[in-house]
Amino acid sequence: MSERVLVSACLVGTYCRYDARTNFDHELLHRLVAEGCTIVPFCPEEAGGLGTPRPAASLSGGGAAEVLDGQARVLDIHGRDVTDEFLRGARAALETCRTQGIARAYLKERSPSCGVCATHIDEVQVAGPGLTTALLQRHGVECTPIEGRKA
Ligand code: SF4
Repeated sequence: MSERVLVSACLVGTYCRYDARTNFDHELLHRLVAEGCTIVPFCPEEAGGLGTPRPAASLSGGGAAEVLDGQARVLDIHGRDVTDEFLRGARAALETCRTQGIARAYLKERSPSCGVCATHIDEVQVAGPGLTTALLQRHGVECTPIEGRKA
């Protein structure tokens, strides 16, 4: 049976970015197909109940670990607290990995949900993971950053 891998949906052509664009990365798609992987596209922000398009958001008052531990929040650019939606999406991503036996994820770099090496806190790019990535990493899912292309 082929290995199932979780992939940020925007990286495989879904128009689910906050601005209703995609980050379709043909090279990633071809690489995973060549490896014989089964791609499981997933957008945590849509899964958490935020529509597309939606206001951009960033972690606020701390990093993803602090949000997971209830010590920081996620706010959109209008100041609306979207922490619950982000947490719901992160937990749904983890549940998808658990139920489908997924041990690897390819995630969109710099996103407040999917960033791996970089994300945004208070609208400033910083080192560290997004919320979904942090939760997946806590549970042993190997997360690989993918820059993707804007289209
Ligand atoms: S980076 Fe993650 S949360 Fe943002 S659009 Fe892509 S899949 Fe959705």
